[in-house]
Amino acid sequence: MALKTYREKRNFNRSPEPAGDDAVVRAGQGKGREPRFFCVQKHLATALHYDFRIEHDGVLLSWAVPKGPSINSADKRLAMHVEDHPIEYGEFEGVIPEGYGAGVVMLWDRGTWTPEVDDVDAALAKGDLKLTLDGFKLKGSWVLVRTKGWGARRPGEKPAEDGKSWLLIKHKDEWAGPIDITTFAPNSVKSNGTFRDILLQEAPDVWHSHRPGAGGGGDAALRKIAEKVAALDEPAAEPPRKAAPKKAQQAAATAPPKAKKAAAAKKAAPTKKTAGRSKA
Ligand code: MN
Repeated sequence: MALKTYREKRNFNRSPEPAGDDAVVRAGQGKGREPRFFCVQKHLATALHYDFRIEHDGVLLSWAVPKGPSINSADKRLAMHVEDHPIEYGEFEGVIPEGYGAGVVMLWDRGTWTPEVDDVDAALAKGDLKLTLDGFKLKGSWVLVRTKGWGARRPGEKPAEDGKSWLLIKHKDEWAGPIDITTFAPNSVKSNGTFRDILLQEAPDVWHSHRPGAGGGGDAALRKIAEKVAALDEPAAEPPRKAAPKKAQQAAATAPPKAKKAAAAKKAAPTKKTAGRSKA
């Protein structure tokens, strides 16, 4: 039942996405405050967004975050609650050639999440779920909070009360910082690839023929996706990392304070040197 909406929206003969195994759905792992699976999928569909998914009761509860998660605790990122996804979806990366969600899915982050409360269902019903993330890019304490009366589009218009608007907010801790994690670490956590790499892997012909004047040919829907990927102008992916991802992440997470310190030292340096010289 939990995956009914998910399945209704998709034709699995035409989509590479997993249909979802009900046995997995029923199994349901992670009770109480035990860690369980979470992931973020960067999804280039009608518009680019980030799908934030946390395992609960055998499915992935899902929110679409248009701007992506921010590790800056001053940011409140709109997160639209969407249909539950199968657990297996959490490893999915690839091209959806047509239909619902057509475009490219990149597994942008994954790891475990741990509820900071004993009763997740009660927290969800209340619209205030505090959680700890232990991913490669996202770490530390966060909150998903349902907005009340937020979402009025025009002045005088009644705010949407459909309960679908939430905010994803990073709590202030050692994993928070003024860095834009979506541009700092834009690539796949699974393949280290960009959207272009994922498309090139799955549909190389389409990639090479998508450009205007290249002769076209092939699948029109895929060509449209290729044009969208090309328009993103992604920076080229770095060669596969040899360092442990965890270490790379730790370096990334500590970058803001280090950068701040370095900048402060730079500013302070001339004064110190002058002082030193005048003394000499
Ligand atoms: Mn999506």
